[in-house]
Amino acid sequence: MKTVSGIPVFNGGAVDNAFGIVIGRVFVQESERLGIEERIIPTDEIENEIIRYKTAVNDTRIEIESNRDTTLESLGRNFADIFEAQIHILQDPRLLRETENLIRTKSLAAESAVAITHNAQIEIFRKLNNTYIAEKINDIRDIEKRVLRYLLGTRSESLRKLTEPVILLASNLTPSETANLDRNFVKAVVTESGGLGGHTAILAAALEIPCIVGCGNFLENIKNGDIVIVDAISGLLILSPDDSTIKKYQKIIDSSSARIENLDELRDAEAITLDGTKIEILANIEFPQEADNAIQRGASGIGLFRTEFLYLTQESEPTEDEHFGSYKRVAEVMDGKPVVIRTFDFGDDKESNKHGESTPERNPALGLRGIRLALKRWQLFRTQIRAILRASIYGNIQIMFPLVSTVKEFRQARYTAVKEFMDELEHDGIPYNKEIKIGMMVEVPAAVVMLDHFAEIADFFSIGTNDLTQYVLASDRGNRHVSHLFSSSDPAVLRMIHSAVKIADQTETPISLCGQLGGDPMRLAILLGLGLRSISCTPSSIPRIKKICRRIMIADCKRIAEKSLQFSNASDVQDYAIREMINIIPDLMNKIF
Ligand code: PEP
Ligand code: MG
Repeated sequence: MKTVSGIPVFNGGAVDNAFGIVIGRVFVQESERLGIEERIIPTDEIENEIIRYKTAVNDTRIEIESNRDTTLESLGRNFADIFEAQIHILQDPRLLRETENLIRTKSLAAESAVAITHNAQIEIFRKLNNTYIAEKINDIRDIEKRVLRYLLGTRSESLRKLTEPVILLASNLTPSETANLDRNFVKAVVTESGGLGGHTAILAAALEIPCIVGCGNFLENIKNGDIVIVDAISGLLILSPDDSTIKKYQKIIDSSSARIENLDELRDAEAITLDGTKIEILANIEFPQEADNAIQRGASGIGLFRTEFLYLTQESEPTEDEHFGSYKRVAEVMDGKPVVIRTFDFGDDKESNKHGESTPERNPALGLRGIRLALKRWQLFRTQIRAILRASIYGNIQIMFPLVSTVKEFRQARYTAVKEFMDELEHDGIPYNKEIKIGMMVEVPAAVVMLDHFAEIADFFSIGTNDLTQYVLASDRGNRHVSHLFSSSDPAVLRMIHSAVKIADQTETPISLCGQLGGDPMRLAILLGLGLRSISCTPSSIPRIKKICRRIMIADCKRIAEKSLQFSNASDVQDYAIREMINIIPDLMNKIF
């Protein structure tokens, strides 16, 4: 038995594996090496060869457009834009010209010329070395493969020919491969490369396929048909699992499948604990279309709308009207329920170099990201804030700033930037909600420590446990080499949360929590015990979080939280929390651990 760890892209899971855990047989997607050799053609065939090349490009365009249209229908515009961007690359005049030139001047066969020009472009990008570029390379490879398939008359149908459920393992998946995955058969995806902001992760999450990316090299020793376990909650791929491990995970799957059927009934139910405390359960979303999921799963609002994905799925900067359209749509779907729009949080894992500094930062997590970047990129910030303000008359929209570290920063963002943008709208007679609430993410330790000062100027707080954990434990949230340190159950993180909640209560400032920790059923009692009464999590986690809320008492939660704060390490907290949850709600939890 061997365990490989990667970055989990778990969003609550699909209906038949509610906890993001899948046991199954492996299908290894061979990285396609089409093995193009340099083939020279007779001079009198050159013109025909160029026509053959142009026809292949045209056929590829038609294929990508069809992918774009299907994706538009199933997942919406932002996802479809991934393919729109591919069409731009495919039709890049320089690429077309250079390929044609090679055919003409070197008498190369079209496929040889395509392989050379695409590789050259990839090499240029590779030297730039950052996440955004990695995605770009993936796009170019995808296009190259398609054009070559048309030229050579071979099409890889392997993924389309699946007839039974599999766990798909690949070095990397191209956007088209991910968007075309058949959910009937592909039960989970694990890739060697990729990061959280990558297309594979974004699309897999939207398709609700449990997924782990960035696992490093692990494919050499695996063959089709091997049994593995994918734990997309913890980001673990277990190879050749022994019987007892399979049994343990099977229990989790059985119990979640049994329970998921009646979770839909919870949509309209309130999350009220057995001793009558009301808990607000909100949704985290990345795309406007997900507002519908949030409503379907019974969210009482959007606690975190991560807007950077609006930028990452299209080539050009979204215009003010495009932003406005997205925000208005969410506000209208939510129909008066709160919609907290977080201003862009580029940087660190969210592909900094596209919007941030042009030179790569040595330490991006501590660099120009979140509100720091917004205050430097005034026009980018202005476009977004104006759009949010304009949309604010269509519902209960609120603004949230990410990665706030100092009071001065928040003041600048609120009283200089937003005020200036409000004045502009006022001047132009454009309506907006003048009372719009403006709050901040609490995800930097300094913000927790200084929260009493922030309470004087922020309308609300939301704890981002993903970054808070990263910064409290000084362990990169996306780095598999330090993932053993990165745990939001660590008592150091819990003490930070506790302290933030206490200050928020004392200053009567509303506080919620929107990091991944909020969707974890095992640690919900701790959060409620620490005093949180509002949690925001992925839409698909909402029913089970509600269900657990309705089965516990705040008195028990307080006891569990107090004890958890006293442990010296994360694993003791986790073991203890699981034991307590099993004691309190055995019928819900017993089958799990
Ligand atoms: C967080 O840091 O916990 C958070 C919710 O924001 P993000 O994951 O987008 O950084
Ligand atoms: Mg964050």
